[in-house]
Amino acid sequence: MRLTIQAGIVGLTRRKKEILDREYSNLQKFLKGDRDVPLYSANKQQALRYYKKVKQKEYPLSLRNDLINLRKAKTFWFLKIPVYGVRGGIKVPVKLHREFPENAKLCESKIVKRKDRYIAMLTFEFPAPPMRECSSILAVDLGERFAATAVLWQNGNVMKVQFYGKEIRGVRRHYAWLRRRLQERGLIQVVKRVGSKERRVVNAILHRVSKRIVSLALATNSYIVLGDLTGIRKRVKGKGKGKRLNRIINNMPYYRLSKMIEYKSMLVGIPVITISEAYTSQTCHICGCEGKRKTQGLFVCPHCGEYNADLNGAINIAKRFERALGYMPLAGAVCEPAHNHACVEAPSDRVG
Ligand SMILES: [Zn+2]
Repeated sequence: MRLTIQAGIVGLTRRKKEILDREYSNLQKFLKGDRDVPLYSANKQQALRYYKKVKQKEYPLSLRNDLINLRKAKTFWFLKIPVYGVRGGIKVPVKLHREFPENAKLCESKIVKRKDRYIAMLTFEFPAPPMRECSSILAVDLGERFAATAVLWQNGNVMKVQFYGKEIRGVRRHYAWLRRRLQERGLIQVVKRVGSKERRVVNAILHRVSKRIVSLALATNSYIVLGDLTGIRKRVKGKGKGKRLNRIINNMPYYRLSKMIEYKSMLVGIPVITISEAYTSQTCHICGCEGKRKTQGLFVCPHCGEYNADLNGAINIAKRFERALGYMPLAGAVCEPAHNHACVEAPSDRVG
């Protein structure tokens, strides 16, 4: 199994920056036909091997399998980059954007330049962890009020309900307000900076949320079942309806969150299944009838009454997956009174 992790090259000294700049720009010159530029021999070989026809503007420096070296020193990782004229290459501090499995082996990687920064694209290879045989389902509904609502589902029963990431909405509102204010004053550069700050803040929350979801699945030996929002999006666009759904998809970083869940699950061998989420938010999880969202948090079924809307979506996902697995008699399910489900009624304000 292969995995590529981005690692920003940070805190370069002026000397190392100059050396790296020189190596990088000499590679570009070399590729354009100037074969005499000083360039580390392995970099020349790689260039000749890989870039027979030069099409792009710029190419990354590649770090050959046998020359690559990543070491941890206290809190930082150091990457060795072989360059022309410096014996043993230069060691640069890198900041890894993700963790990697302990038994992973670093293989041939690349260094790309973005604007004036260098980023190492480190490729790791590791044996895929064996996929677990799971005995229950953790259904995750990605929503608007909460980034995720998770329902632990066992033998047709809700065992646990968790709400995650309620704070994201507040964060986004705050930054939207801030951006408006800054735009009014014409501070466009600041607006950009604020945008990337927002992304970092939201990402940190998403990492925390995904980590907790995966830990819960691990602790309860569950499959993770996610609603597939990308599929929905296309359909919604095509039909020109579902304004509410479109707003949700555009406002929450679902894609990032589901990718993080998938990634973290993969590292520990938890199967993640994505199922179509069509109509899960409009269907009553108790009787299967069509209902309505009365307010954002409240779902109303004409037969069963009112209950938490996020929870409804998550239970529908669990049921749909169970049906797909084929051990749940769902067709023609009987309408039950709502009080039977009172135990799963969620505290609407608590964050899981
Ligand atoms: Zn109902």
